[in-house]
Amino acid sequence: MFQKIRPNVQRTSLKLVWLKRDLRINDHRPIWEASQSGPTVVLYVFEPKLWAMPEMDRSHFDFIVQSLQDLSRNLGKIGGCLAVRIGELPDVFIDIARNFDITGLYSHEETGNGFTYDRDRRVSKWARQLGIPWTQVPQNGVVRPLKSRNGWAELWQTRMNAPITPTPTRMLIPDSFDWGRMPKGEELGLKPTQKMNLQVGGECKAIETLDSFLTIRGFNYRKGMSSPVTSRENCSRLSPYLAWGCISVKSAHKQLLARQREIREAPVGSIDSRWLSSLSSFSSRLAWHCHFMQKLEDEPELEFRNISRVYDGLRENDFNQERFELWKAGKTGYPMIDACMRALAQTSWINFRMRAMLMSFASNHLWLHWRPTAIHLAKHFLDFEPGIHFSQCQMQSGTTGINTIRIYSPAKQVIDHDPTGVFIRQYVPELAQVPNKYLPEPHRMPLDVQSQVGCFVGHDYPLPIVEHRIAYKSAQEKIFAVRQSNSAIDEAKRVFTKHGSRKKRDALPKFKKASDLRQLSLFDDDDKSGRSHF
Ligand SMILES: Cc1cc2nc3c(=O)[nH]c(=O)nc-3n(C[C@H](O)[C@H](O)[C@H](O)COP(=O)(O)OP(=O)(O)OC[C@H]3O[C@@H](n4cnc5c(N)ncnc54)[C@H](O)[C@@H]3O)c2cc1C
Repeated sequence: MFQKIRPNVQRTSLKLVWLKRDLRINDHRPIWEASQSGPTVVLYVFEPKLWAMPEMDRSHFDFIVQSLQDLSRNLGKIGGCLAVRIGELPDVFIDIARNFDITGLYSHEETGNGFTYDRDRRVSKWARQLGIPWTQVPQNGVVRPLKSRNGWAELWQTRMNAPITPTPTRMLIPDSFDWGRMPKGEELGLKPTQKMNLQVGGECKAIETLDSFLTIRGFNYRKGMSSPVTSRENCSRLSPYLAWGCISVKSAHKQLLARQREIREAPVGSIDSRWLSSLSSFSSRLAWHCHFMQKLEDEPELEFRNISRVYDGLRENDFNQERFELWKAGKTGYPMIDACMRALAQTSWINFRMRAMLMSFASNHLWLHWRPTAIHLAKHFLDFEPGIHFSQCQMQSGTTGINTIRIYSPAKQVIDHDPTGVFIRQYVPELAQVPNKYLPEPHRMPLDVQSQVGCFVGHDYPLPIVEHRIAYKSAQEKIFAVRQSNSAIDEAKRVFTKHGSRKKRDALPKFKKASDLRQLSLFDDDDKSGRSHF
């Protein structure tokens, strides 16, 4: 039971804006609404229990601090101030309520993990008991509560078409408020990161990144998105800014529409019309962002357990720690896997196609349960967004029951996406001198070539951890054995009804036999740039 604080004429009233994954001033309804009357405190709380979770990393912390510093500057311009605390919730709110009369709590709805869900329930209970109204508003296309997936795309569109929330021009702040200070990572047990070339947090960086994508970098988006060589430049790189809310999906979407209009209306020949196909792909992905988050919103358990329950028990008892360690360290003997894992450990970003390959390799070739591997990747993705992440990890592991089983050949990915080894040689220096011909499978290099280039496979670079064809076949058989059962079909109906993307059709597909399940990938999202995975 929370202690009710007696009203006191001396106590200053304030409105409390609680920041979560919404570190910006523009298109921020809680900041706008709270600031319309009376003193406002905009607060970010570093929660030690959240930061102790294995998916959280120092790079996330640094990005958040940079974003808060930017926000603090922007609040300063309108007379506001950013408050920062370290502590659990609602304890921090209880502490503030000792000296101030909190007349309203304002925040965005958060589609987070189990921890944030439980914490929100505690905050809700506290606010109710103290009679403090808590205004929670949506910040993207995720609908809470969603009755049915039918018509979701229209709801998303309505959200995107809504006007941008105005930015306050003036903010009142309470006197004698302790604004706190930005913590050091070490105070939360986070050691300094060894990572390099990380994206820098903040709303101004988000705006710059989107602008350079829409006007310059995005031209080759469609062509360049799948290769780890070109994607760093050609993809939008908006993901950490969307994940931590440095820009809203709605703002990004409106700027995209404006750019599409500009291209369509430009005099013939003045802007290359190939821009339009790239921007159309980008537009779909902004919708996918919310589509995937909606899955976690509708079924929070998918953070921990298989989306399709018929796959329960498939991998749980086979976890091989040694394989896991080699995968994490980028020492699997598959150059594309190793280069991606090492690139990720250094830079915290990799493109979609390579993420899919890494996850699929861990789940299928190495037969590791998706949960520990998903947690490891989450830690290394600067853009970790629980709703997208856990749904995608399950999709690549074949446990959604409604998507194509994707098992990539890591050797083919080298041929398709890094044929001259630009990316691989950068991150796996042991292979720097290996001829292009042997880069997909260095273990096939004749001994005299190994000697010439100074790379002995099995000594300087590992032999493959598993044999691709055997591992692929074994995984495929085990998954299909489950997928062909009658219960898998019933479960697929349930999963599709709850989560499947309807696109233009509102009707459910008919599932009568196992082969119908193959069709489902056509309804859900995919990396359309290439489907030849094997
Ligand atoms: C196993 C796995 C885990 C993933 N985990 C995350 C994650 O934690 N956070 C995250 O933001 N994305 C995740 N993705 C999706 C995707 O890989 C990244 O969004 C994308 O690579 C980020 O780079 P970008 O901003 O340049 O993307 P762009 O291609 O420029 O796309 C623009 C935006 O659209 C959204 N988006 C793009 N692709 C997808 C997709 N397939 N599904 C949902 N939204 C998408 C993202 O918000 C992205 O920032 C994951 C994909 C896989 C296969």
